[in-house]
Amino acid sequence: MRTIFISDLHLSGQRPDKVQTFQTLLDRAAGQVDALYILGDLFEVWVGDDDDTPPNPEILEAMREFSGRGTPLYVMHGNRDFFMGEGFVGKTGCMLLADPHAADLYGTRVLLMHGDLLCTQDTDYLAFRRKVRALPWQQRFLSRPLWVRKAIGRYARWRSRHASRRKADYIIDVEQASVETTMRAHGVHLLIHGHTHRPAIHDFELGGAPARRIVLGDWYVQDSVLVCDAAGQRLMTVSEFLAGPD
Ligand code: MN
Repeated sequence: MRTIFISDLHLSGQRPDKVQTFQTLLDRAAGQVDALYILGDLFEVWVGDDDDTPPNPEILEAMREFSGRGTPLYVMHGNRDFFMGEGFVGKTGCMLLADPHAADLYGTRVLLMHGDLLCTQDTDYLAFRRKVRALPWQQRFLSRPLWVRKAIGRYARWRSRHASRRKADYIIDVEQASVETTMRAHGVHLLIHGHTHRPAIHDFELGGAPARRIVLGDWYVQDSVLVCDAAGQRLMTVSEFLAGPD
């Protein structure tokens, strides 16, 4: 069988075609793969588990149906949807993963991340991340009414679009030194992440052994899916995956 990885779908009501593609993928993959991993930024924005902005309810329902068919569904927080919590788990039947998370992939130890933690040259962002991931800040945010949280979410999206446009290219990419330090710390030679929207398979050497970093693409234009089995890993588009033999 196979295990599939996706990330950075950034689903919202603005791109109903991608919501439809995600539902098709879930329907096709249920019972046909060993597991589905979503490595962050499934949603364009998620302001709490009571966020019922369309098309969120139908997305959650499709995920619940998928996990209900017995296929493990793993979800990691991204920088857009880190407010997914126990309510989300209950509605979808998914398992929330910590970032980073080490797993076994057909006998190979693999480290899974969203990817933002590897962008260590973006110190402004990492400071912001530390602030908003702290429990007191999260509790304060989640105690606000839904309409306030939605307004804050819209503002944050607008601000991040402007901020990343001002930043140099290398700042918003991962730093190779951090990649290697993180991989060494977790004892892996395989790393899979998203976030940078630069899909690629990078092969390099780590401690005298071959190492690999696989970057998933987004679902704006790249529509990335990573398909893994005992033979290896293949990065493809979701339409290539859906056109596949099984
Ligand atoms: Mn991201």
